[in-house]
Amino acid sequence: LEQIAQVDSGIAGRIVNELKDQRTHLKLIASENFSSIASQLAMGNLLTDKYSEGFAYHRFYAGCDNVDAIEAAACEYACELFGAEHAYVQPHSGADANLVAYWAILNTRIQIPALEEIGIPNPSNLSRQQWDQVREKLGNQRLLGLDYYSGGHLTHGYRQNISAQMFDAYTYTVEEKSGLLDYDAIEKMAQEVKPLILLAGYSAYPRKIDFKRMSEIAHGVGAVFMVDMAHFAGLVAGKVFTGAYDPIPWADVVTTTTHKTLRGPRGGMILCKKEFAESVDKGCPLVLGGPLPHVMAAKAIALKEALAPSFKTYAQDIVRNSDALAKACLAEGIPVATGGTDNHLMLLDVRPFDLNGRQAETALRECGVTLNRNALPFDPNGPWYTSGLRIGTPAVTTLKMGTQEMKEIASIIALVLNHTKPMILTKGANAGQPSKAKAVTENTAKQEAQKR
Ligand code: PLP
Repeated sequence: LEQIAQVDSGIAGRIVNELKDQRTHLKLIASENFSSIASQLAMGNLLTDKYSEGFAYHRFYAGCDNVDAIEAAACEYACELFGAEHAYVQPHSGADANLVAYWAILNTRIQIPALEEIGIPNPSNLSRQQWDQVREKLGNQRLLGLDYYSGGHLTHGYRQNISAQMFDAYTYTVEEKSGLLDYDAIEKMAQEVKPLILLAGYSAYPRKIDFKRMSEIAHGVGAVFMVDMAHFAGLVAGKVFTGAYDPIPWADVVTTTTHKTLRGPRGGMILCKKEFAESVDKGCPLVLGGPLPHVMAAKAIALKEALAPSFKTYAQDIVRNSDALAKACLAEGIPVATGGTDNHLMLLDVRPFDLNGRQAETALRECGVTLNRNALPFDPNGPWYTSGLRIGTPAVTTLKMGTQEMKEIASIIALVLNHTKPMILTKGANAGQPSKAKAVTENTAKQEAQKR
């Protein structure tokens, strides 16, 4: 830290402040965790100085012996941990992993014509018209994934994401009343859409998914079955999701992040069946440039940690805590979407407190609880203000909290929500109206929450 401070004391100060913040606030963000010091140190070192385009033992750069060994170890651990046929550990993030997977699937199942063949000599800066030509040649392939407003991720075909440019993107939703996936409806849609890829996976769905059923739907219409397990990879690794709920045996391609429930460094990874291995290994040049050897080293450490028996206990505890927290929230009078959870996250509805998600998020943050607002399915308040909160238990489980602490957390959340009101604006055209963004918590409740 001293060395960092010598270059820029502001940055050093911010690192210290972030440490203080993460130690003094309850971390309930479903996608966050506390990675181990071993994993952090494997990431923060001289490996960052090495270029190693290609993949293990097949490089376009000299002097890659050590990176070869690191990348090969990470792939080997990943295959062992998940029982996968092939692993690729280079994607820099979950979004990159999905991009690599999309192109690898296109490359494997559809012959991408050489660009010169369709009169495009220079592939950089393709105009809209040239993109359309490429898409036409590819036959406007279709992607069918979970809708963003039902808990899907942006990269699953959201209209403003590149995935919706690469494909004709179609989405399925959860059932409006129950908030649950309706497999019969998904099957009907898959039969109509006939997608190249049927995609399962989520950022904000509180239930497990029947991957066996989803794979039957996909393969029944000739689609590639892809799963994005970014959120719940740790629950798969820890053998909480098994049989029909383990995506690995059923999916052709599985993508993930390594930093959420899996508790490793920030990054992405792909696991796939042999058919897709060759194309997946071409992540560079398809989508990526040079890999990040320091992050691959940290991934290897995190994967090895996940192979230890204690990781299974951690994964089981995440779900036990999540269930206990959801039940305690219900007992406190806070509605929980779908009536509960069977994974690491839940969605709370804050409308009964006359708040929107943004107001609730800011009020809780002021009281020492960090979580994020999230749209509920078919949310009338949209994705910015929202009517919900997404809560996850991975980080507090890493801190070894248990079901008793979950009850305490639910009572703190209830205390804050019950004593918070939207702030009344005093200036501007909307003076006298409640602010949509800010809320005020009674001081006594704030102090009580912070004390606890
Ligand atoms: N896929 C899912 C399901 C996610 O929830 C996320 C991130 O929240 C991503 C992909 C993207 O991961 P990253 O932020 O590492 O790009």
